[in-house]
Amino acid sequence: MADEQREARLQEKVARLEVELAQAETQARTLGLLLEKKLNEMYVQYHVSRTISSQMDKHEMIGRIIDSIKGAIPFDRVSVYLLDDPRENLELSYSSGLGVDSSVAIQPGQGTPGKIVESGEHIHIHDLALFHETINDYLHVPGEEKRAGSYIGVALKVRNATIGVIGIDHPEKYRLTVDDMDFMAILSHQIAAGIEKAHLFEKIEHLSQHDGLTGLYNHRVFQERLRQELARRDRTPEPITLAMLDIDHFKQFNDNFGHQAGDTVLKELSQLLLLQCRSDATDICCRYGGEEFAIIMPGLTALHAATTTERLRSVVEHHLFSVKSRSTDIKVTVSLGVACIGSEDVITPEALIKKADEALYRSKKNGRNCVTFS
Ligand code: GH3
Ligand code: MG
Ligand code: MG
Repeated sequence: MADEQREARLQEKVARLEVELAQAETQARTLGLLLEKKLNEMYVQYHVSRTISSQMDKHEMIGRIIDSIKGAIPFDRVSVYLLDDPRENLELSYSSGLGVDSSVAIQPGQGTPGKIVESGEHIHIHDLALFHETINDYLHVPGEEKRAGSYIGVALKVRNATIGVIGIDHPEKYRLTVDDMDFMAILSHQIAAGIEKAHLFEKIEHLSQHDGLTGLYNHRVFQERLRQELARRDRTPEPITLAMLDIDHFKQFNDNFGHQAGDTVLKELSQLLLLQCRSDATDICCRYGGEEFAIIMPGLTALHAATTTERLRSVVEHHLFSVKSRSTDIKVTVSLGVACIGSEDVITPEALIKKADEALYRSKKNGRNCVTFS
C-alpha cells in the first residue's frame, strides 16, 4: 500500500513538473521572440541612424529608412508626406503599395495624414473595419480603396513643429501592435531630425549656388559650369556660345528711380532671360556680378546664337518693367557681347570670357542696346 501511495505521489509530481516545464518552455519561447524583436528593432535603429548620417538627399534617405523599418514591423502599404516650405501643402514624398505617382499633394487637416500633421498626434488603429464604419476618411491618399487591417501613423516633429507624417498599414486587424506603435514613435524623432538635416543641407546648397536677389546661378557656379562645359567638349566636340549682357546706363537708372527700382529691374530682367533660355535647362543663366549677366549656351552655333541673342536684346527693350514712376516711359536696354566657338576649336574659360567681354565693350562703344559678336 505504501508503495502504491509513493508511486501515485511520484506520478503527481512528474505531472506537475511536466506542466511547469511546458510553461517554462512557452515563457522561454515568448522571451526568445521578444528578444528577437528587440534585436531587430536595435538593428533597424542602427540602420536608420547610419542612413541619416550618410545620406544628404531627403527622398533617398526616406526610401532607405522605410526599407529598414520593414525589418522590424510588418506592413505592406506606406506613405510619407512632408510639409512644403510655406507650410501649406503636404507633398507625398514616398509611397509603396498604393499604386500612385508621387505628385500627390494634400493639405493639413485633410485625410488621416493631414489630421496627424494638424494635431501633431500619432494615431494607432487596431481594427480598420471599425474605423471605416465610424470615420469616413482615407489613410494614405484621396480616393484609395478601403480595406480591413490595422494602421499606425506617426507625426514627424522637429522642435515641436510637425514637418511630416509616416503612415503604415497591414491587411490584418491587430497585426500592428502597441509595441510597433511605441517603436515607430521612438523612430519618428530620429527620422524627423534626419529629414530636417537633409532639408537644411538642400537650402545651404541652394544659397551657395544662387544669387539672393535674382535667383540666378551666381558667379562661382558660372565659373565652375563654364569650366565643366569646356572640358566636356574634349570628349564630345560641339560648338559653344557665351553671351555677356550688361544693362545700359544703369547707374543713371538708379539715380533717377532709386536703388529699389533698380533691384526690381534686375529681378524682372532675370526672369526674362530665363524665359528666353532653352527650357530643357541646357542654357546656364548666371548673374555675373552687379548689372552684368552671363549665359552659357552649349551646342549653340554662331547662326543660332545670332537669333537668340538678338531676341534677348529686343525682348528687354520692349518689356514694361513694373517700376512706379511719374514719367511712364521707363526704358531699359541691354548691350550684349557674344563669343561663339566651333566644335573643333580649343579655348580656355578665361579666353572665352575675354572674347565675350571685348565684344560687349564694343557694343557699349557702338551706342549700346545692340549685340556684337567677337
Ligand atoms: P554702362 O551702360 O556703360 O554699362 O553704364 P552703367 O551705368 O550701367 O555702368 P556702371 O558700371 O557705371 O554702373 C553700374 C551700376 O549698376 C552701378 C550700380 O549702382 C548698379 N548696380 C550694380 N548692382 C546693383 C544692384 O544689385 N542693385 C541695383 N539697384 N543697382 C546695382
Ligand atoms: Mg551697365
Ligand atoms: Mg557693368
